[in-house]
Amino acid sequence: QVVDDEEGGVLFIPGSNSLSSSSSGYGYASIEKQRQRLPVYKYRNAILYLVETHATTIIVGETGSGKTTQIPQYLIEAGWAAGGRLIACTQPRRLAVQAVSSRVAQEMGVKLGDQVGYTIRFEDVTNQDETVLKFVTDGVLLREMMNDPLLTKYSAIMVDEAHERSISTDILLGLLKKIQRRRPELRLIIASATIEAKSMADFFRPRKKRREPENEENGLKVEPAILSVEGRGFNVQINFAEEPVQDYVQAAVSTVLLIHERESTGDVLVFLTGQDDIDAAVHLFNEEIQTNRKRSSGLVVLPLYSGLPRADQELVFTPTARGKRKVVISTNIAETSLTLEGIVYVVDSGFSKQRFYNPISDIENLVVAPISRASAKQRAGRAGRVRPGKCYRLYTEEYFLNHMSNEGIPEIQRSNLVSCVIQLKALGIDNILGFDWPASPSPEAMIRALEVLYSLGILDDDAKLTSPTGFQVAEIPLDPMISKMIIASSQLGCSEEIITIAAALSVQSIWISARGIQKESDEAKLRFAAAEGDHVTFLNVYKGFHQSRKSSQWCHKNFVNYHAMKKVVEVREQLKRVAQRIGLVLKSCESDMQVVKKAVTAGFFANACRLEPYSHDGMYKTLRGSEEVYIHPSSVLFRVNPKWVIFNSLVSTDRKYMRNVMTIDPSWLLEAAPHFYQLQQPNLLH
Ligand code: ADP
Ligand code: MG
Repeated sequence: QVVDDEEGGVLFIPGSNSLSSSSSGYGYASIEKQRQRLPVYKYRNAILYLVETHATTIIVGETGSGKTTQIPQYLIEAGWAAGGRLIACTQPRRLAVQAVSSRVAQEMGVKLGDQVGYTIRFEDVTNQDETVLKFVTDGVLLREMMNDPLLTKYSAIMVDEAHERSISTDILLGLLKKIQRRRPELRLIIASATIEAKSMADFFRPRKKRREPENEENGLKVEPAILSVEGRGFNVQINFAEEPVQDYVQAAVSTVLLIHERESTGDVLVFLTGQDDIDAAVHLFNEEIQTNRKRSSGLVVLPLYSGLPRADQELVFTPTARGKRKVVISTNIAETSLTLEGIVYVVDSGFSKQRFYNPISDIENLVVAPISRASAKQRAGRAGRVRPGKCYRLYTEEYFLNHMSNEGIPEIQRSNLVSCVIQLKALGIDNILGFDWPASPSPEAMIRALEVLYSLGILDDDAKLTSPTGFQVAEIPLDPMISKMIIASSQLGCSEEIITIAAALSVQSIWISARGIQKESDEAKLRFAAAEGDHVTFLNVYKGFHQSRKSSQWCHKNFVNYHAMKKVVEVREQLKRVAQRIGLVLKSCESDMQVVKKAVTAGFFANACRLEPYSHDGMYKTLRGSEEVYIHPSSVLFRVNPKWVIFNSLVSTDRKYMRNVMTIDPSWLLEAAPHFYQLQQPNLLH
């Protein structure tokens, strides 16, 4: 119910239920046994007792000990879902929500979407009459609060993976603490893999009022309980690289081949950073398999990242056939969110994609950055689940000791806060700096966010949501800049087109790309490329896809990602309903691309850049902050280098690259955001 559609027009995607037909006697018993073998099982009664007697229970336990899949089931068994009440379990990642809920449905012998369901943005697999346990992203629970501020439907909420400190988890923790004061009967369970359980407990500890003998209300202890579930991990032998590694993708592939050659059976888990380098590694493996059959025989290489089609996700969890060795190449989703059975070897690149925000330049980008030592330990731990394992770190010991930080920084301290501010404002929380945060965001970042929201017309002079724009933006479950673009399109008469663009921006990429097919895919792209840039190109692709009657062959022929396009169609339908609900006018501008571009500018004016006059390599500078940026090679404007552009997002590797770029007329900037540009850039047009 992300796109909380009151009319009941919620998208229902039946999960794959091939796994959940296990209510037959035998299958059920064996699952029961598996459940009892998990480390948390020994603590079942202790957990239930603590939850019964404490408002907040903090549970720390190693990955794979059964926190996520078991504790919600214990709660059901103990009656927490009786009488029409619901239990929620939150995850920071969408893919984890899907995988874990499908596992729990299987364990309970029910169909996913009946008693056990899940909701992620744009996908609701629950049933109002039957669902008692809901897995959700923390963002979804935040959205539910807009309609039900005290989350009255829920008797217990488990906030999982708290150690990740995602921005939504932190906001959620702050709000749940507030809710608890109004609803003392609500039980919170905070689960995490490592954590500083103590600082979490400090956060939930009520401030002492005068001199109270015991912090107790109606026999319920308000002092949080802490329970630590001992793991049963096996020893993992750590190997460091002797020399710094130049290309970690190549090094990861070589390391896996060496493991395959020299080590006994057991699956391999490789940690890379994202879809791009994972795809590159898969491609290198495929080359190896073709050229060196003998050396690679028996290897089964599988990618794992969010956005992967459902069927491919399930492959990752399928037990390895005899005589085969599974190699899962994953983002840090496999670090603590998902447990893969049978892993004996871990190859750790030492990197992950992280969000970084600089309030001075107002630039947020995704950077491939070194992980913390805490993460490195977690990654290594994945090798010791079934028997003693080995971890190969693609960095030196010296680097590990002297250059990696001990712990990661909470995401809220390295993010742009625009979405966060709108969400809190929509929940009626006005004093955002005074909000009770588990970790405070920086005042500079907060001021920047307020400034941008003011320029977007989302906040007024008193920093309150404007009506209707501010409230409309809060209703759309997208980045506020995209939401603003949609609202502007309604006024400009091009909402049909803009909703397509918004849907296309919500998927990773609509193109198929891989090393080796670059030339062909670039040529295919030219068939759709619009001089206006990527946004208008999306419209051309969407039109072609539509005319082909959504044919997968058409996609294949044109190097368009079929799964991504299906997702675009789905998201588009959802956005259309949201737009109608909040009273926007759905209209097509036919072929007038000028209004489409103006609508995009109305949302993204803050990301405007100008080509450096004497630049030979296509360097741009952002108007605000003068950051050096370049057009990403995946853009249709790569090497075209028009003078004025705006972009949708930035990614950093060696340089900062703009993804999804559009040409603009600079005079539109003043039109779209007079306050923003006049004050800062008096000489904008010169
Ligand atoms: P935790 O949350 O403590 O990390 P989980 O509850 O996720 O642990 O996992 C407990 C166990 O359940 C895992 O060790 C694994 O054996 C099993 N499991 C979890 N998810 C799946 C799945 N999708 N397929 C098969 N087994 C799974
Ligand atoms: Mg878990």
